[in-house]
Amino acid sequence: VAKDEGKRTFCVFSPKMNEKISEYVWLDTNMRNALAENQFELYYQPKVSLLTGEIDSVEALIRWNHPKRGLIMPGAFIPYAEESGLIVPLGRWVMETAAKQAGAWKKQGLNLRIAINISARQLRIPTIIEDFTRAILSNDLSPSMVDIELTESCLAEDERLAHRLIRMFRELGAEVHLDDFGTGYSSLSQLARLPLDVLKLDGSFIKSIHTDAKAQALVRSMVAVGNALNLKIVAECIETPEQADFLRNIGIDYAQGFLFAKPMKLSDLMAWMPASSNKVVRIVTKRAS
Ligand code: C2E
Ligand code: MG
Ligand code: MG
Ligand code: MG
Repeated sequence: VAKDEGKRTFCVFSPKMNEKISEYVWLDTNMRNALAENQFELYYQPKVSLLTGEIDSVEALIRWNHPKRGLIMPGAFIPYAEESGLIVPLGRWVMETAAKQAGAWKKQGLNLRIAINISARQLRIPTIIEDFTRAILSNDLSPSMVDIELTESCLAEDERLAHRLIRMFRELGAEVHLDDFGTGYSSLSQLARLPLDVLKLDGSFIKSIHTDAKAQALVRSMVAVGNALNLKIVAECIETPEQADFLRNIGIDYAQGFLFAKPMKLSDLMAWMPASSNKVVRIVTKRAS
C-alpha cells in the first residue's frame, strides 16, 4: 500500500482501501439477505444473427434491486460474491431462474435459448453439473436450450478442471461459449485443445473497430482463429450500424449490443419481442440505405 502511494510511509489503510473494506462489509451483510428476500433479478439481452436479423438467444445478466440503493450492477457485487463464496448459492439461483424462464417460454411456444454466465469459482463447486442438470430437467428443458458462457479466466485457474467441465456440459448437449475472448491469457494451443462451441469477442475490441486499424486487424485475426478451430463467433458491445457492418463483412455471424437491444427485464423483453411469431423472431439490423 505504502508503495502504491509512492512514499515510504507506514500507512496501513489508505483511504481507498478503507472505502473498499467498508464496501465489503456492506456487501457481506446485505448480500446474505438479498437472496432470501428475492432482491436479485435476471435481465435478458438478445443475441442476433447479423445475416438475417433473427434472434438467436438471450443472455441472462444478473441485477440486484436493493431496497435503499436501487439497481446494482453485477460488476459491483459478483467479484465479492466470488471471494466470499456467496457465488455458490447465487449461481445456483441464476441457473434455476434462467432454466425456469426458458421452460416457461417453451410452454408458451417460444423456443428461445438462454445463455448463463458461470465464473471461475463456480467451476470448483463439486455439484455444478448436478445443479445444472437438475435445473434443466425440473423445467422440462433439453440442455441444448441453455448455453454456458465461461470467461478465459476460468481456464487460467485450473485448465484441467475447466476442460473436464466443458466436456461434461457439452456431453449433456449444452453449448459452451468462451466469453470476453481476447482479454485473457489462453494460448492458441490451449484454445485448440478446448472443446468449445463459440468464441465471444470481448467488447473492448469492438469499440474502435471503425476508426482504428489495429483494432480491425486484431478482430480479423480473432475471426481467423475462430474459423480455424471451427468455432462460431459472437461479437459483443455493438453500438453502431458501422460496427455491425464491419463485423458482418468480415464474416462474424452473431452479435449482441445496445444497437440491437440493451439487457431488459422480463416484461420489457417480452414487449420488445416481435409479437407475431411464436418461434423465430426477426428484427432489422441493416441500415435503410
Ligand atoms: P459479460 O458476460 O461479458 O456481459 C456483457 C456486459 O456488457 C453486460 O454488462 C452488458 O450489459 C454489457 N453490454 C452489452 N451490450 C453492450 C453495449 O453495446 N455497450 C456497452 N457499453 N455494454 C454492453 P453487465 O450486465 O453489467 O454484466 C457485467 C459482467 O458481469 C458480465 O460480463 C458477466 O461477466 C458478469 N455477470 C453478469 N451476470 C452474471 C451472472 O448471472 N453470473 C455470473 N457469474 N456473472 C455474471
Ligand atoms: Mg457473458
Ligand atoms: Mg462478454
Ligand atoms: Mg465482456
